[in-house]
Formats: sequence, C-alpha cells, structure tokens
Amino acid sequence: DNVQVSVLGLGAMGGALAGALVKAGHQTTVWNRSPGKADDLVALGARNAATAGDAVLAGPLVIACLLDHASVHEVLDPLAGELAGRTLVNVTTTSPAQSRELAEWADRAGIAYLDGGIMAVPHMIGQPGSSILYSGSAEVFERYKPLLDLWGTSTYFGEDAGLASLYDLALLAGMYVMFAGFMHGAAMVAPAGVTAGEFASMAAPWLSAMTGSFQGFAAVVDGGDYTVAGQQSLEFSNLNDLVAASAEQGVSTEVIGMVQTLVRRQIDAGHGQEGFARIIESIRNSPADM
Ligand code: NDP
Repeated sequence: DNVQVSVLGLGAMGGALAGALVKAGHQTTVWNRSPGKADDLVALGARNAATAGDAVLAGPLVIACLLDHASVHEVLDPLAGELAGRTLVNVTTTSPAQSRELAEWADRAGIAYLDGGIMAVPHMIGQPGSSILYSGSAEVFERYKPLLDLWGTSTYFGEDAGLASLYDLALLAGMYVMFAGFMHGAAMVAPAGVTAGEFASMAAPWLSAMTGSFQGFAAVVDGGDYTVAGQQSLEFSNLNDLVAASAEQGVSTEVIGMVQTLVRRQIDAGHGQEGFARIIESIRNSPADM
C-alpha cells in the first residue's frame, strides 16, 4: 500500500531511508534543517517541505532521523500538537533511557511511538545484511512493517521503548570486544613478521566459526547450571598460556588479561571445575558489588 510518509532529517542515514521509501513508490515528504539536502530526493519524486511542521502535517506517519536525543526534542517539542493522533517512528540513535523518555513524551502528547535502532551504515539500507531493531508500540510495528522492511530486516522486541536501544548497545559491546580480540591476536603475531592482513585472513573464518558456540553457552546460562557435563572447565581454560605468550611477544596483556580476570574470579570462588559460560557471573556481579 502507498503510505504518505514524512522523513525529518536528511543526513547520510535519513537520506538513505527516505530514498528507499521514494523508490518503493510511497508518497514521501522530506524536511531538513539546512537546505540543499532534499534535491536528489525531489528528483526521485519526493516533496520537500519548507518546515518540519509542514512535513508532519503531510501524512499519518513521521520518521525522525536526526543527530541525537536533544535534536529530536528541539525539532519535535514545538510540534507536539501537530503530531497528536499521528505516528512517530524515531530511528535516531538514543540511549535506552532517552528512548523511554521520548516514548513517555509521545504518550503524553497522544502520539503513537515506535523506537528504532539501525544496525547498518547508509549504503546498506535496503540491502542484505541491514537490520533494524524496534521497540515501543506493537500496533505501529505491525501496521507499518511492510514499509519498515524496505530498509532491512525488522525485528521487534517489545513494548518497552528502551529495548531496541539496549539490544543495539549490547550488540555493539560484543562487537568492540571482538574487534579488540582481533587486534590483540594481530599484535601477538606481528613480531614474528606476520602482517595484520595475513592474520585477518585466518582470524575471520576462525572467529566466524566460533560464533557457533554461542547457543551452547546460552543453553548453559539460561539453564542456570554451569556443571552440565561436556563443557571445557574454567581451570582448563585459565588462559595462562595466552597471557604468557602475549608477554613473551612483548605486547600488552590487557585484552587477554581482562578475560583471564573474569575466569580467575570464578576459579577463586571455587567454581574451577565448571564450564566457561560461568564467566557471565563475573560480569553480572562486578567486584564492586561483591
Ligand atoms: P548526519 O550527521 O549525516 O546527519 C545529521 C542530521 O541531523 C542532519 O539532517 C542534520 O541537519 C540533523 N540535525 C542535527 N542537529 C539538528 C538540530 N538541532 N535540529 C534539526 N536537525 C538537526 O548523521 P546520520 O544521518 O549519519 O545519522 C542520523 C542518525 O542515524 C544518528 O542518530 C545516527 O547515530 C544514526 N545512525 C547512523 C548510522 C550511520 O552509519 N550513518 C548508523 C546507525 C545509526 P543539518 O543538515 O541541518 O545539519
């Protein structure tokens, strides 16, 4: 179905989102604070609104893709009246607390609210691998899912508007620790004359294959019993060899030492015969809590 949709914010991401809507044949109205960013979209068939208020009034569905939480409030606070009775899908990156605050603001103003977290870069929008996480109004997600699916795989987590953002940040946390792990390995082999590129060609398939362990760890974590048979014990994976080899190569042991600290805390608490998944207890209960 052809939806009358408005996009506020035509930065790199907002422009890509609006482009996908126009190309799919939706009647798309666009607005950007500074001029000139709508030209390509207008050439494709979008309508350029003179003000954010005009854009909001153009249809029932408003997409916001601005810089941050503050800019969303700056643009939308004066338009609460115009937005009342309409739907707002906010894909601006915000923290879980900021997403919840915006959902409460929208609720007070009579605006149906869906929060989105974009797991893609602009050129991936509408391409395989693009994933967008949503939380907030289930009704909005169901109604507009065909339109949202134009941007990538759409996944809905629940009515708590902060969940999409929480997932987004949790996935990024996992990614950054993995990146640091790759850099650590590359630093270890460098003194042996191995280039980072050579290491990367071994590390990428290895780490990809190791993601196959996630569900096994998850079954142990969710089951709550770390003594399940068939697991590698914490004492077996105490990482002494990895820390020693890193030190012998003259590289920092911070990255691998961080993991060893999590392992040691469980061994010291008497859980050395239990499985590696138990390190989640070191993370859940930081030393400050103990
Ligand atoms: P850009 O910096 O390219 O664009 C920012 C947009 O926000 C511009 O349209 C800008 O308008 C507008 N803006 C900033 N401040 C205000 C304000 N006070 N009032 C009105 N408009 C304002 O950023 P992106 O498009 O890349 O990112 C947009 C959102 O998407 C961000 O929250 C970002 O975190 C998120 N995102 C981006 C990804 C990416 O790879 N680019 C990936 C995942 C999420 P103006 O042109 O006038 O400056």
